[in-house]
Amino acid sequence: MSEAAWALSPKIPEGPLEHKWDLHRSGLKLVSPNNKRKLRVIVVGTGLAGASAAASLAELGYHVDAFTFHDSPRRAHSISAQGGINAAKNYQNDGDSVWRLFHDTIKGGDFRSREANVYRLAQVSNSIIDQCVAQGVPFAREYGGQLANRSFGGAQVSRTFYCRGQTGQQLLLGAYSALSRQVASGQVCMHTRTEMMDLVIVDGRARGIITRNVVSGRIEACVADAVVLATGGYSNVYYLSTNAKASNVTATFRAYKRGAGFANPCFTQIHPTCIPASGQHQSKLTLMSESLRNDGRIWAPEGVSDKRAPNEIPEAERDYYLERKYPSFGNLAPRDISSRAAKEVCDEGRGVGPTGRGVYLDFAAAIQRLGRDNIRGRYGNLFDMYRRITGEDPYATPMRIYPAPHYAMGGLWVDYNLMSNVPGLFVIGEANFSDHGANRLGASALMQGLADGYFILPYTIGDYLARTPTTSTSPDDVEFKEAATETRARIQRLLSGRGRRSAATFHRELGELMIEKCGMSRSKEGLAEALQSIPAIRDAFYREVAVTADDSGMNSALEYAGRVADFLEFAEVMCHDALARDESCGAHFRIEHQTKDGEAVRDDDRFCNVSVWEFAGAGEAPTLHVEPLVMEHVQLAVRNYR
Ligand SMILES: Cc1cc2nc3c(=O)[nH]c(=O)nc-3n(C[C@H](O)[C@H](O)[C@H](O)COP(=O)(O)OP(=O)(O)OC[C@H]3O[C@@H](n4cnc5c(N)ncnc54)[C@H](O)[C@@H]3O)c2cc1C
Repeated sequence: MSEAAWALSPKIPEGPLEHKWDLHRSGLKLVSPNNKRKLRVIVVGTGLAGASAAASLAELGYHVDAFTFHDSPRRAHSISAQGGINAAKNYQNDGDSVWRLFHDTIKGGDFRSREANVYRLAQVSNSIIDQCVAQGVPFAREYGGQLANRSFGGAQVSRTFYCRGQTGQQLLLGAYSALSRQVASGQVCMHTRTEMMDLVIVDGRARGIITRNVVSGRIEACVADAVVLATGGYSNVYYLSTNAKASNVTATFRAYKRGAGFANPCFTQIHPTCIPASGQHQSKLTLMSESLRNDGRIWAPEGVSDKRAPNEIPEAERDYYLERKYPSFGNLAPRDISSRAAKEVCDEGRGVGPTGRGVYLDFAAAIQRLGRDNIRGRYGNLFDMYRRITGEDPYATPMRIYPAPHYAMGGLWVDYNLMSNVPGLFVIGEANFSDHGANRLGASALMQGLADGYFILPYTIGDYLARTPTTSTSPDDVEFKEAATETRARIQRLLSGRGRRSAATFHRELGELMIEKCGMSRSKEGLAEALQSIPAIRDAFYREVAVTADDSGMNSALEYAGRVADFLEFAEVMCHDALARDESCGAHFRIEHQTKDGEAVRDDDRFCNVSVWEFAGAGEAPTLHVEPLVMEHVQLAVRNYR
C-alpha cells in the first residue's frame, strides 16, 4: 500500500448534517444503463447485507456474481436474528425522531463512531421498513393494522419493528426473494457452496477473488470490476459465541493481508442475555433475545452463595441490580453495561445455577400483569427454545442468563462510501467496522446491514465504477495465478500436519484465552500475556493439527481448520488493538480505567478515534493508523443511564 492510500480519508461530505447524504447522493457520478450491462460486481456473502446488495445491484443492471459457502443464502447467520430492527418511524408517538435515533446510537457506541455515517443510518432506517413491508415481511401489527414496536436497550422510545422472535429470518426471506428474482432473470450468478479464499488486487484495485468449491475442492478465480465483502462478523474467535458455527473472519482477514485496514478489532460485544454455558461439551451458546428485557426483570440473590430455588427467595432478598443502579433505563440499560453488571454480581459470588455464572431473568410480574397468553404471543418461540435447551419452564421459573460473545463492532475500515482503503473493495454489514462505535445498541445490526445493502452501496459503488477506467483483467493474469498458488499452498500446509489433535481443540484453547484476556474486561498485563500465548498456540496448531482426508472433494475438517488458522492470526491483531486503546469505552473495558463505581472512563483527548491496523508482514506486529473522530453535533459526555 502506498502512503497516500493510508491517508484514510473518511470522505465525509460537506454541508449540514441533515443534508449531507442527499447532497452527496445528488453529486455522485452515474453509470448509464448501457454501461451497467458491461460491468460485473462480486458480492461475497448472502446474509442480509449481501443478499440485499446483490439484489439491488442486479436490479440496477449490473452483472453480479454472488458467493456463499452455504448451500443456500437462506442459511446465513442473519437468519438467527431474533428481536427486531430499529427505525425512527415514531409510530408510537413517544417522541422518536431521526435525530433521537442518531443520538442514541452515537451515545450507545460511547462516542466512537462517525457522526455523518450514523445520521445517514438513522435517516434511511424508515425506508428499510417500507421496503421490507413491500416485500411482504410479516412484521407484528397492532389491532388497528399499524406496525407494532417494542423497546430495546439504550433507548427510551419504542422503535423496534419485529416478527415475533424471528425477525432476521423473515427479513432474510424478503431479501432472498428479491435475490432469487435476479437469479432467475440471469442478472445474478449465484455461487453456493463456494468459499472465498483470497482477494486479488491488480494495479492497486480489487479486481477479483480466489474461491474453493467446497463440494468439488476446485480452486477457481473470479474477475470483476469491484468486490463487495458482506461476510459477517468474527465473534467465533471466542469459540463459544451466539454466532452460527460457520461465521468466521477468513474473508476480511485475507483482505487485511492484501492491504485493507482492519478497524477497531477489539470492539466486540458480549451480549447480556444468553443461556449460560453448561460444560465443556458445548460448541456454541444460545441468545435469549434482548426483547425479553421489555418484560423480564433481571435479578440475583442479595446474599452470597444462596442455593435456594428462585421461587423460594423472598422479594426482600432479591437484588434487581439494573433497576437499582440505572433507574432511568432499568432492565433496558445498554448491553455493555448490563453484561458487566452481571459479571460483577457473579464475581461477588451471587451468581446462580450449577456453575455460579448466571443471573435470573424473571417473567413472574409480567405474567401476572399481562397474562400467560400475552407473554406467549410476544416471546413464545424464545420460551420454547429455552425450555428445550435447559429442561426448565420459563413460565414457571425464571430463566438463567449470562453474557456471551455476540457481535463484532470492529471490521474492515470503510469511508463514507463504504469503500475500504483498497480502491474497488467495498465492505458492508457486520463485516465493516460499522456505525456502532464501541458498543452496538440492540436491533441496530439488521438496520445497518440493510441500510448498506439496499440504500447506500447501490449509490456509492456506481460513483466508483463511473470514475474507474475499464481495463481488461483475466483469471490468467499473474496476480490471480499467484493468489491461487498461495491458496493451494495454505491448504497443503493444513493437510500435511501429522498430529492427532482436531482443529476444534485449538479453537477452544484460543477462545478460552481470548474470553479471559480480551473479553468483558481487559488489562495491560492480561493482553501482554495473550500476545505471548497466541503464537505458541498457533505453532502447536501447525505441528499437531490433524486434518483428515484430502482436498479433492468435500472436507469440512479442512474448511474448519482454514478458518481456525485465520482466527489464530487475527486474535493477535485484536489484542494489539485492545492494548493500544488505553482507555475504557463501551464494550472495551480496561480495568485500569474505571470509576469507583466500576463505570468505564474514556480518554477523549487521546482516543476519540478509529484505530486502523495495517498488515506489516508475516511475523511482524501490525502497524497502527488513526482516523480522528470529530464530534460537531453531539457533546462528548460521560454516558449516563442512571
Ligand atoms: C442469535 C443472534 C440474534 C441476533 N438478533 C439480532 C436482532 O434481533 N437485531 C439486530 O439488529 N441484530 C441481531 N443480531 C445481529 C445480526 O443478526 C447480524 O449482525 C447480521 O445478521 C449480520 O448480517 P451480515 O449480512 O452482515 O452477515 P451474515 O448474516 O453473517 O452473512 C455472512 C455471509 O457471508 C458468507 N461468507 C462468510 N465468509 C465467506 C467466505 N469466505 N466465502 C464465501 N462466503 C462467505 C456466509 O455464507 C453468509 O452468507 C443477532 C445476532 C445473533 C448471533
